[in-house]
Amino acid sequence: MRLAILSRAAQSYSTQRLSAAAEQRGHTAHVLNTLSFAIDLADEAPDLRYRGRELEDFDAILPRIGNSVSYFGTAVVRQFEQMDVYTPNTASGISNARDKLRAIQILSKHNIDMPPTAFVRNRADVRPAIESVGGAPVVIKLLEGTQGIGVILAPQVKVAEAIIETLHSTRQNVLIQRFVAESRGRDVRALVVGDRVVAAMRRRASGDEFRSNVHRGGSVEPLKLDAAYEQAAVRAAQIMGLRVAGVDMLEGEDGPLVMEVNSSPGLQGVEQATGLDVAGAIIDYIAGRVAFPEIDVRQR
Ligand code: ADP
Repeated sequence: MRLAILSRAAQSYSTQRLSAAAEQRGHTAHVLNTLSFAIDLADEAPDLRYRGRELEDFDAILPRIGNSVSYFGTAVVRQFEQMDVYTPNTASGISNARDKLRAIQILSKHNIDMPPTAFVRNRADVRPAIESVGGAPVVIKLLEGTQGIGVILAPQVKVAEAIIETLHSTRQNVLIQRFVAESRGRDVRALVVGDRVVAAMRRRASGDEFRSNVHRGGSVEPLKLDAAYEQAAVRAAQIMGLRVAGVDMLEGEDGPLVMEVNSSPGLQGVEQATGLDVAGAIIDYIAGRVAFPEIDVRQR
């Protein structure tokens, strides 16, 4: 297979591991900088140029689209889709996952358990919204935060109101979410590839921090997932339209509460915590999808 990994970070652990895993398996992998594409809409057939030249043929792409280039990055992925190049994560899947509100709206429609969440704009609606998710302490989240930045725990309703009003005044949209205290600063990250979880870890916040992100000093340990968690993770990824995803869950009293689905999950933490070859599992999955139509035809 000829694979293009779309990434702006050729030297990052994840990109390096993915291209090494592809090469090890006899595939060709090129790391292409997402921002160096030009989308060509002039001709009848959809086309893409890369660094000013015509693009070579690829069987599949693996998008690793960072938050800072969502709009252009998803446009490039969409263009590959138009050109019938296989991608495990579609442009719409990536966009859906990136927006926390849109993700929650889609998942809640499909009976995925999540922490109770509200989204309001009017000042008069803020207090009822906080009450509706269970009162203080309450979590406030910026819609497009990552790595735990923009996730705030407000201890009292008055403080929460002040924070939300301040953010609204700077034109920031925020989610109001129940603080799942029983998860005690821990969360679960499941790496979903296709229809299974290939690796999972538990992240634990450090000290009095409630956010368990590794970027916020959290530590990681390998985890064997219960069936309920595994099922929630796979379903959440599939509903979002993602075949490669990192699904974050809190451990609620009655089982998994899905927090978010990441379309470009980092591999370093989970591979180092579990010792598993997640990059290899991703490459094998893509290779299987690319080969599938041919196998199908031969078997008929
Ligand atoms: P980000 O996308 O920035 O990582 P998250 O929504 O995943 O933001 O939140 C960051 C961390 O904060 C989570 O990993 C979790 O540890 C903690 N957290 C988030 N939401 C809640 C919540 N509702 N209750 C308890 N802890 C939470």
